[in-house]
Amino acid sequence: MGRIIAIANQKGGVGKTTTAVNLASSFAAMGKRVLLIDMDPQGNATSGIGVDKKKLPATVYQVLIGDEPVDRVVRETSVRDLDLLPANQALAGAEVELVGAIAREVRLRKALDTVRDRYEFIFIDCPPSLSLLTLNALTAADSVLLPLQCEYYAMEGLSQLMQTIKLIEANLNPGLKLEGILLTMFDARNNICHQVAEDVTQHFGWKVFESVITRNVRLSEAPSHGLPINIYDPQSRGAVGYEALAREILSRAAEQTAAPRIEA
Ligand code: ADP
Ligand code: MG
Repeated sequence: MGRIIAIANQKGGVGKTTTAVNLASSFAAMGKRVLLIDMDPQGNATSGIGVDKKKLPATVYQVLIGDEPVDRVVRETSVRDLDLLPANQALAGAEVELVGAIAREVRLRKALDTVRDRYEFIFIDCPPSLSLLTLNALTAADSVLLPLQCEYYAMEGLSQLMQTIKLIEANLNPGLKLEGILLTMFDARNNICHQVAEDVTQHFGWKVFESVITRNVRLSEAPSHGLPINIYDPQSRGAVGYEALAREILSRAAEQTAAPRIEA
């Protein structure tokens, strides 16, 4: 059964899509079967993995409104072992169309039930909002990975997101866990980065990943070539960072099955 990890933060530009694409691709490079789900109408994960978002016969939108079964919309990518459930601008309509629909928050979860056993990991790239699309992602997920950009206002909005996660846990998805908090765009020369790292570790302790993604221009170039970083530039610090994160997630999971962690 594939483990479903939603990558969420209601702030834009914090590294959600970069993390979703490159973490998915790092796991695929380890030979894991991976599905990447684009839940953002901007379709950045779709184009970032090399799929033309203007030429899609169907997207996650049709899946959410119930017009297409998920396995008819999922497609292969140029990356081995990595499939994509794509999105484009059409997804923006789902929000409005699902108002008043029955069980509108569980649409994605229900759809994924039919394909889950084909994958080891499923990553959902969330939009920069706490909208119905994000609710669907968090309701479908086993855990949430929270990218946090190392900047002055990073912690702002984090408590709101934690509150949303708790609400979803209480009402829609009792098993939802916090996979971890990931520091992104870290710049060791910038004092604010160190301050953010210190603050977030003080608040969230072990939930902050030891792996940190540094600011790396190669990571920002890769999407325009439609390639994940481990193919675009495997030697780059970005590629090394996301591979380390994938390994950390695997070893944490192994630890958790071996001996239940004591919650801080
Ligand atoms: P989000 O999905 O949260 O809106 P993105 O992943 O799209 O954020 O990242 C925002 C911008 O920052 C993009 O242009 C992306 O290429 C760039 N970016 C993300 N992570 C890094 C990084 N570690 N180093 C340099 N640029 C990055
Ligand atoms: Mg994004």
